[in-house]
Amino acid sequence: MKYLIIGGVAGGATAAARLRRNDESAGIILFEKGQYVSYANCGLPYYIGGTIPERDSLFLQTPESFAERFNIDVRVENEVTAIDGHGKTVTVRRADGSQYVESYDKLLLSPGATPVRPPLPGIDSEGIFTLRDVPDTDRIKNYLTHHRVRRAVVVGAGFIGLEMAENLHEAGAKVSIVEMANQVMAPIDYSMATLVHQHLRRKGVSLHLEQSVEKFTKRGSVIDVHFKSGQTIEADLVILSIGVRPATALAQAAGLKIGEAGGIWVDDYLQTSVADIYAVGDAIEFPHPLTGKPWLNYLANPANRQGRIVADNMVWGNQTKYEGAIGTSIAKVFDLTVASTGLAAKRLKQFGIPYRSSWTHSGSHAGYYPGALPLSLKITFDPESGKLYGAQSVGYDGVDKRIDQLALLIKNGGTVHDLTRLEHAYAPPFSSAKDPIAIAGYVAANIINGAMPAMTWREMQEADPATATILDVRTAEECIRGMIPGAINIPIEELRDRLAEIPADKAVYIYCAVGLRGYLATNILRANGYTQVRNLSGGYKTYSAAVAPAMSDANLFTKCV
Ligand SMILES: Cc1cc2nc3c(=O)[nH]c(=O)nc-3n(C[C@H](O)[C@H](O)[C@H](O)COP(=O)(O)OP(=O)(O)OC[C@H]3O[C@@H](n4cnc5c(N)ncnc54)[C@H](O)[C@@H]3O)c2cc1C
Repeated sequence: MKYLIIGGVAGGATAAARLRRNDESAGIILFEKGQYVSYANCGLPYYIGGTIPERDSLFLQTPESFAERFNIDVRVENEVTAIDGHGKTVTVRRADGSQYVESYDKLLLSPGATPVRPPLPGIDSEGIFTLRDVPDTDRIKNYLTHHRVRRAVVVGAGFIGLEMAENLHEAGAKVSIVEMANQVMAPIDYSMATLVHQHLRRKGVSLHLEQSVEKFTKRGSVIDVHFKSGQTIEADLVILSIGVRPATALAQAAGLKIGEAGGIWVDDYLQTSVADIYAVGDAIEFPHPLTGKPWLNYLANPANRQGRIVADNMVWGNQTKYEGAIGTSIAKVFDLTVASTGLAAKRLKQFGIPYRSSWTHSGSHAGYYPGALPLSLKITFDPESGKLYGAQSVGYDGVDKRIDQLALLIKNGGTVHDLTRLEHAYAPPFSSAKDPIAIAGYVAANIINGAMPAMTWREMQEADPATATILDVRTAEECIRGMIPGAINIPIEELRDRLAEIPADKAVYIYCAVGLRGYLATNILRANGYTQVRNLSGGYKTYSAAVAPAMSDANLFTKCV
């Protein structure tokens, strides 16, 4: 059997090693158009920033080690330029321009994705980079070494853009981020992204949201970054991190089916529309397990898992199905960890799927044990069954383990009630007896069963104090730091004695710091005959972060009695 693989990094290299483990006698050739195989793309930003000091540690395998350990013929600087699916051959171009043809029994494509580089005037100027591979990394590192980079601009605030912002800051630059959307990190909802905005600003990063770049011009070594709004900012270095597109040109030219999301179409076994040609990684589209709609998922874990599955199917026949990915991802943004899995509220809205959201803010571990840090969690779920759709978390410690547990539940069709049944390893340095995700489950279950009529920060923002009493049940000291416009303050401890101050014929919208005291207050009012009572999910913490940019200091400090 002769296997050919196109692309030698995440998906391709994993599949190559697994193919060898599955079939000791097979001929395996891996073509890579670049100079390097099996390197850690995910580590590239950290090498640029200096956190990973040794360039060599980025390389997991070399062509030589692949040959020695796996008996795999790795051909770097060999680009596959054409595939003949009927004749079962590929055409390959060497670095010197010469070409040759290689035959196969089974072929795997793992060509990855290519960074988007819009045709903006000045985009090819010196000092403007994209980051995808090792040569890009070397170019950026080299530029940082030989130029005085005091101001860096990152265009595009996805995961890689934010990682680069942090690493350029580490390298000593004052960083500005330009983003067309009104938030960073597209996979998470606006209310969670605002927590990241606050952190970035605290770290001295300038955020230019809802701004798109129109052109770049050069003045000596300075790059002027011009926005469509007319604003211009100066940079010594620019990173374009606008997104990527699946590398489908080769597949398309070979007549392989391209799916509706723009990726290479594959079946459940990761086989393309042409027999004996398989595809994995960033280049493919696959149905989302929750929506059933094809989508592109540019992440390393799916690429690696697919590489393993596809190697089994190539050797033993199509037996192992790929179940799809729900986009579980995580990023370090300075001191923060930001993670998400499944479907955010904005995606559910797009797909017309009915949902509810719940925000909770907990400590990373027991509050009485030193060093507990805030951990915010938003979950989305079916309003009736409680089936979990998605989760997002922002915090400093323990975000990773919570999001992984949630991802497992979501992939297995779990509900908010399952969150309350999870068994957690607990000791004070690690968690609380009620873990943050258990709390999220209790709160969501209360929302579903009507024990806690909840409202969102958006509903609170639209609330009219003329028709509803907005009731802040925090302490007067907490109120000094900010209140919702039009709210009155009655601390929870005084509420039972001051009910006369709250009109019974109007709706009452309650809030506290994070939602717990608001829930207690909701119960007190309902037990005293108030029928239209709702509690703000996530409390003032969610609200103030979400509305902060639109809110002036003047109306932050309103009536506090
Ligand atoms: C800077 C950076 C940071 C990242 N960080 C994370 C992270 O923290 N977490 C995460 O989950 N994901 C991360 N990713 C994404 C992750 O690296 C990709 O999802 C993953 O590498 C995709 O694997 P792949 O095999 O599809 O493509 P790749 O790993 O990109 O490999 C494709 C290879 O195919 C080669 N190729 C293409 N066409 C041809 C051809 N015709 N002939 C020969 N060779 C060809 C390319 O040169 C390339 O080397 C990051 C990506 C980057 C760029």
